[in-house]
Amino acid sequence: MKDKIALITGSSSGIGLGIAHIFAGAGCHIALHGLLPPAEGEALCEEFRDSYGVRAVFSDADLRDADAIAALVRRTGEALGDIDVLVNNAGIQHTAPAQAFPAAKWNDIIAVNLSSAFHCIHHTLPAMQARGWGRIINIASVHGLVASVNKAAYVAAKHGIVGLTKVVALENVEQGITCNAICPGWVDTPLIGQQIQAYARTRELDYEQARLALITDKQPLPEMTQPASIGQLALFLCSAAAQTMTGAAIPIDGAWTAQ
Ligand code: NAD
Repeated sequence: MKDKIALITGSSSGIGLGIAHIFAGAGCHIALHGLLPPAEGEALCEEFRDSYGVRAVFSDADLRDADAIAALVRRTGEALGDIDVLVNNAGIQHTAPAQAFPAAKWNDIIAVNLSSAFHCIHHTLPAMQARGWGRIINIASVHGLVASVNKAAYVAAKHGIVGLTKVVALENVEQGITCNAICPGWVDTPLIGQQIQAYARTRELDYEQARLALITDKQPLPEMTQPASIGQLALFLCSAAAQTMTGAAIPIDGAWTAQ
């Protein structure tokens, strides 16, 4: 992976940041991205340059905006070179029953969790196809495979991204490009912190009790996956050993979807 160029959306936090550390550790130059003030994004780049000796750039492009995504891909190419590895990771959550789900939240979740992956792929594929090599990794979720209540937009977006993964894989089987989805269960990130706090409030539990209860409500293995483990799985998908793995939706979920 040395000197490959990786764009990882939503890599200012959580799973994306974990993936960025693993890829930079493997020698990739990294396009970091997320909703951080530019000064904090630049500080994160410095940290990556110092720790790993790789090149790093940062963008705060809003993934709800298709033009901003086109500019993100173009500027990454100008700054680092054509993208070899695209990780569509950024995602947001909102929970409410369908009849009470705010339309604006639905639109935002579909835009960030699904449409942005299409736009990133759309703008990244031509250079990958020209070079005959590319790796596209979509961070879906167990909710790309099964549903839960109160997550209409999230589940719809994640099922959508699993479908998008299959189409892009099929269209590129002879181009040296693979496209796979990773489907995590609970992962220890800020996105989950808010859900634990809400669970604790409604059931009058302390944070630790709520954390364990929330995890085991769906996931038999009572531990969250660490972001670095998702990074290692993503790195494996870029290895020669994974050359024929494409179009897959791979759970890493403590047996959540085994039931
Ligand atoms: P997180 O909240 O820690 O990070 C989300 C990232 O997305 C941040 O970098 C944020 O800045 C970025 N982002 C959000 N809205 C954006 C926008 N409009 N424009 C640009 N960037 C935006 O979340 P996380 O838990 O690391 O989740 C990452 C991905 O993993 C998401 O797609 C999520 O659905 C998925 N996932 C998470 C879990 C989990 O348990 N944490 C489980 C399964 C799947």
